[in-house]
Amino acid sequence: MSHSRTIIRADIMGYCMGVRRAVEATEQALLESPIRPVYTYGPLIHNPQALERLAASGVVVIGDGYEPIPDDFRGATVVVRAHGIPPEERRELERRGARVVDATCPRVLSSQKRALVYHERGYSVFLAGDRNHGEITGIAGFAPGCVVLENRVDADSLEGYPERAVLISQTTIREGEYEAIAETLSARVPELVVLNTICPATMDRQKALEALSREVDGIVVVGGKNSANTVRLYKSALALTGRAWLTETADGIPEEAFALERVGITAGASTPDEVIDEVEQALQKGYYPRQD
Ligand code: SF4
Repeated sequence: MSHSRTIIRADIMGYCMGVRRAVEATEQALLESPIRPVYTYGPLIHNPQALERLAASGVVVIGDGYEPIPDDFRGATVVVRAHGIPPEERRELERRGARVVDATCPRVLSSQKRALVYHERGYSVFLAGDRNHGEITGIAGFAPGCVVLENRVDADSLEGYPERAVLISQTTIREGEYEAIAETLSARVPELVVLNTICPATMDRQKALEALSREVDGIVVVGGKNSANTVRLYKSALALTGRAWLTETADGIPEEAFALERVGITAGASTPDEVIDEVEQALQKGYYPRQD
């Protein structure tokens, strides 16, 4: 089917700075290290296509829920992903002979350092976020004894409150959630330092999506269906335009998208550039890949 169609990309989309650095560090390790496999400690990104491509190049994911951590790395490279890890886990990797490439996102590194500094100054450390998320467990390793608060109820129901404390958030926490936790704690802790550690990457993608929605008839959101920020983008796109689709690959573009004259594209922070390009090319060519 031939159809005149304009494709418009969101101004900001796809890999955030931290994920891009981690992917590039892994690609560099593949070039530099003669030893295979190259390991990543946990998956670098929540995108099945990107993980498949990395696996095909000789990357093996180790850690909870993935391949077991080798007893002896024999000089093999381990890339620490953007979320970071606790210092004792890094020391353990090195003790087992790994060459550790630290691709912790600079924003997360900053949270880790601040947690350590305040802990050493004698402040109680509160972390706001998901207690099972790698970023939070990583930061917690820098402030032994810290307390993780997932929501306002957690902040409201502690058995006791310290005289002075610092509050640090997961970089991807929702602003409203963080404010609610900060407000609750500040009513109980006489000296509370609230650090602004929320990363603007998610908000920047949402704002760019809003601008895009004013120019198009519908939006194709590209990214992993298990990626929280991609799913959030999809829900916003649907609310903004009434016509939005989430696809992991060019093959998944629904037929309705090809019928539009002006189609917008955005992508989650873990979507590789190649996948976005493939979706754009498929929309430009104007065919239905699933019928080929
Ligand atoms: S979302 Fe922000 S903090 Fe997290 S990895 Fe990306 S740039 Fe870093």
